[in-house]
Amino acid sequence: MTNRAEAVVDLSAIRANIAFLKAKAGVDLLAVVKADAYGHGLIPVAKAALEGGATWLGVALLEEAITLRAAGITAPILAWLVPPGSDFKSAVDHDIDIAVSSIKALDEVGAVAGAKRPRIHLEVDTGMTRGGFLSEWNEIDAHHVKGVEIIGIFSHFARADEPGEPQNLEQLTRFKKMVATLESFGYTNIIRHLSNSAATLVDPASAFDMVRTGIAMYGLSPDVKTLGRSEKLSLKPAMTLRTKLHLVKDVPAGSPVGYGATEVTKSDTKLGLVAMGYADGIPRIAKNVGVSFNGKRAPIIGRVSMDQFVVDLGAASTAKSGDWVSIFGPGTSGEYTADDWGDASGSINYEIVTRIGPRVPRIYEL
Ligand SMILES: *Cc1c(COP(=O)(O)O)cnc(C)c1O
Repeated sequence: MTNRAEAVVDLSAIRANIAFLKAKAGVDLLAVVKADAYGHGLIPVAKAALEGGATWLGVALLEEAITLRAAGITAPILAWLVPPGSDFKSAVDHDIDIAVSSIKALDEVGAVAGAKRPRIHLEVDTGMTRGGFLSEWNEIDAHHVKGVEIIGIFSHFARADEPGEPQNLEQLTRFKKMVATLESFGYTNIIRHLSNSAATLVDPASAFDMVRTGIAMYGLSPDVKTLGRSEKLSLKPAMTLRTKLHLVKDVPAGSPVGYGATEVTKSDTKLGLVAMGYADGIPRIAKNVGVSFNGKRAPIIGRVSMDQFVVDLGAASTAKSGDWVSIFGPGTSGEYTADDWGDASGSINYEIVTRIGPRVPRIYEL
């Protein structure tokens, strides 16, 4: 049986992107592999990232970190969405570093200290107003930190993809101040990390001891409009989503296509049926994207269904049932890109790749 659709992931592109980003940052690199490595596949991508020179891995959930350990990965791992009530003991047992954003979490983590002390990174809110210590920062005292080993301090940028935006400098300034406070308490040898992909690419002053790169390691631009496309940033998109045409048929002009008959064929044409739909992560509202066959683009016609959508191949197309078509890829052979799909659905490349569903096998090119 061959696959109906495949997300082909080029691991050499991931290794090359990591090496490039690490050289650019000039400091350690934490590869962000949360959300199944942005849809690319957790374990193979984590291994490729380490081969490419990453020295840390970062995930959102404790479960993701434990999955990495179960696969035999021994590199340091930071998990940053581990709320009070989590199984902190198992984090310690698996040597997983935990981000802590509140005194409640700090107390709970400290309480599981045994032979090994829990390793934590203090997350501070420097202006994004999402995670991280804000007012409670000033209430942390020696009692709260006695059970834990403070490995790092970090924060996250809200607008790093907008170079020159004053909020970036404000966040950087607050971060430096919070680091200085910690240093004044004698914590002088901890890992300071602030930059995401966008900051790594454009803001060397924020690199500190380590950068945390997500989207860029997958070869995608953090923001095409403000930073430019992948190739301008010297990044190589790693994922190609391809599928087989389920059916190709000649259709007369004036045929209504799909649910709601939202579009009608304008002339006699050849339509292709693609057996992927919104259950696979194809955005239902996508417009002006579709597939490419031999470098020629065929846009979506009509609404995307749960498991299927229809593309207009054009009357002269030589495509047949069973032919492979690209939904998106690096864009070097005429195909649409994840950026195009983001634009076409009022979203961003991040959402396009992370939402590709579990029915789509990930295939690895080494
Ligand atoms: C997701 C995430 C990143 C990576 O962001 P990119 O824009 O993909 O580089 C870095 N740090 C934290 C805390 C994150 O949640």
